[in-house]
Parts: sequence; C-alpha cells; structure tokens
Amino acid sequence: METVKQTYFKNGYILTMNDINQVYACGELLVEDDKIKAVGKVDPALIRPDAEVIDLNGKYILPGFVNTHVHTSQQISRGVGDDVDFITWLHKRMWPFESNMTEEDSYISTLMCSLELIKSGVTSFAEPGGQFVSGMAKATAQSGLRGKLAKSVMDCGTGLPAIWQKTTQEELDAQIEDLEKYHNTADGRVQVWFGLRTIFNNTDDLIVKTKELADKYNVGIHMHVAEAKSEIDYTNEVYGENTVTHLHKLGVLDKNLLAVHTVWLTNEEIDLFKKYDVKVSHNPASAMRVLGFAKIPQMLEKGVCVSIGTDGASSSNRMDMVDEMWLTSLIHKGWRLDSTVVPSTDILCMATKNGARALLDDHLYGSLEEGKKADLIIINPFGPSMMPVNDPIAALVTAMHSTNIESTMCDGKWLMRDRKVLTLDEEVIVKEAQAHAEAIYKRAGIVLPDRFPTIR
Ligand SMILES: [Zn+2]
Repeated sequence: METVKQTYFKNGYILTMNDINQVYACGELLVEDDKIKAVGKVDPALIRPDAEVIDLNGKYILPGFVNTHVHTSQQISRGVGDDVDFITWLHKRMWPFESNMTEEDSYISTLMCSLELIKSGVTSFAEPGGQFVSGMAKATAQSGLRGKLAKSVMDCGTGLPAIWQKTTQEELDAQIEDLEKYHNTADGRVQVWFGLRTIFNNTDDLIVKTKELADKYNVGIHMHVAEAKSEIDYTNEVYGENTVTHLHKLGVLDKNLLAVHTVWLTNEEIDLFKKYDVKVSHNPASAMRVLGFAKIPQMLEKGVCVSIGTDGASSSNRMDMVDEMWLTSLIHKGWRLDSTVVPSTDILCMATKNGARALLDDHLYGSLEEGKKADLIIINPFGPSMMPVNDPIAALVTAMHSTNIESTMCDGKWLMRDRKVLTLDEEVIVKEAQAHAEAIYKRAGIVLPDRFPTIR
C-alpha cells in the first residue's frame, strides 16, 4: 500500500502570493506528499489521523524564495574581488580562479552555496554558468533544492584562458550533452538551461543557434545582459547599437530569455522587454558595486516581469535573498529621490511568484495554492529584529533577516528545520569549502594582499 504523508499547519500568518496576494491572518495549510492540498481554511475531512500537526502560533508561511541568478560555482571564490576594479576582478582574479576549478571544486562550491540558499529561505534557483554542470547537478540533487543549471558559454573574446577557447559548435554540443544527461533528474528538481555568458564573449551565430535550441528543448536561456557601461560602449563600437537592440535584431527577445542585471536599457528597450515578455533578474548588491542602477521602477510600472538574484559570492559576497530584498527596497528610492517607488508588496512578488515566472515554472511554485508544489518557508518574527510587527509586509522586506527564517521545505521535504539543515552536513561542507578554495588560489597563483599589516 502506498503511504501518504501529510503535514498540517495551523494558526499561521499565510501569505499565499496568489493572483490577488491573499493573506490569511490565522490560516491553515495542508501539505500532502510533494504538493499543497489545501490552503486558508482546511476541511477537517481532508486531514489524515496520522498527519503531522504543526501549530505555528502566529509565525508566517511564505512561498520559498526564488533566486533567479546565483553563481553556485563561484561560492568558494568569495572575497576574490573586493575593492578592485572590474578588469582586475575579471582578468586577474575571476578567470584564473574559475579556469582552475575542477568538477569536484564545482560540486563542493555548489554544496556550500546550497547551505546559504536553504538558510535564507530559497527553494529554487537559476545558475548562469559554471564549468561543470555535472558537479552542480550532483550537489543540487543532494541539497533538495530546485536548480536550473547552465554551463558558462563563450565562443569569442580576447584574453580568455586557453581551456576556455572553444568553437561555437563545441559550446553548443557540450550543452546538449549536459541537457541529455541531467535535465529533469532528481525528481525533476534539476533542470538544464542554455547559457550565454555575455555579449563580449558570444558571437551572433552562437546567440541565434542557442535560441533555436532552447526553443527545441523547451528550456530557457540565461544571459548577462547590458550589465555594465563598458558593454554598451563595446556593442556600439562593434554593432552600432545597444545590447538589447542587437539581441532584438537577432530574434532572441522572447519569454524564455532570462536577462540578468539589465542596467543599461533605454526606455524603448524596456518596452521591447514588455512586448516579448523577457524576464529580468535584478541583482542590487552586485549592481551597486560596479554596474549602476537598473530602471526597476520603470520596468515594474510597464509590467515587465522583474525577479531578484544574488549574483555570485565573488561579486556580491552575500548569497542571501533577504538582504537583496532589503537592498531592492532601498536603492531605487535613493537614486530616484522618491520613497514611494518599489514598495514592499512588489518586492515580495519579485522574490516569489515573479521568480517562478522567470524560471518558466509559475504553474509549479511561487505561490501557495492548492495543487502547487509544497515549496515554502516558515518565518519566526518573534525576535528583536522584527518585533513589534505593525505592518507585516513591510516587516518581511525591510526588517527581516535570514536568521528569522526558521524552516525551509521544497517538494514537500524539509531542507531545514529550526535552523538546522537536514539534507547537507554543514560542518563538513564548510571545512571542505575552505580547503578547496585555498587549493584553487594556490593553483591559480592568486595572491590577495594583506589589507592590514599581518603577523603570520
Ligand atoms: Zn552573474
């Protein structure tokens, strides 16, 4: 006989994030196996006698956060780029680091990143491109998270490390191989997307063929788009137009394009994003460091699907969606000199259901609704950083820390309970990550200068 497992939550402040963002101030929720069976008010007849009953006593339930841009393979490079200019960061630090990584490094890095994701309430993420989809897939399967994994794809550009100098066809073939091996593995939690690193390193031929293949395999394309002023200067010099206008001419703007950063867009290009339903991943922390301010208020006004990502640990150091929500709530008010733009209500949508839409999975998760996957988090607000709560929505965005996230469930399974990660051995992974990071620094010949006089 098949066993059915139920978890019944009661007395919770439930933010469904459904079409009307319905909230139940004292609600119930029933999880059965991997799905949500009922939400709001649960018919007692549905609850099995052997269901686990969890009295939330006023704690919050939210859909799991969706991190739409996180370089899991860069987790163990954290600190490699602090306080240096962009070119030093890329050529002298990141390229040597990443090109010296092994499959095992990528695996450990993704495990390490998964710990931080789970502890900050993430249940689903998109990784834009490491060197080893195999290592990332293995770690993602183990972590219990959902991941859209892509290879870092480059077929042109000057100064690239020798092992990255590949032809267009080699890059396409490698991705097809990954797709055929790992797509829809781990109960469908692990999926493979196509990647395009940036227009600096991608030929038109590669971009066009990538779009054709993504359509054929019915998956998305993850690309850094218009991220830095230097990129726009480059595209204007080479193509005589901005990145997004060029991508439009190539026929790539579409609902399955996840465009990351999108800092340097004209108003007309924002209209193109809306027209073609291109998805945006806004990464405020890394943007603040070197890239600039994306026109998020205009994008939201126009109805572009904007989600949130953390970028990589070498760019923004904190792979913490709670911190990114908080930053999102601040930076646009600052540069627009308007404290009404990008309100908390929008930010919660960006971090949940917009993220699910961006990953082409809004039929599966992103909101707490009957029949959807049980991807959810429990938040304990009863501490000094959040209490007293007078405006719950604002509190979740502007006062909450990730330490308020008590438990994380994905696909009906607990990944973390009462702050303890259940799927991964945190102590072991942290130690291994440090050892692997130090070994790569050594192999790559990267020496970070002592910032303060140091006696060793
Ligand atoms: Zn990135």
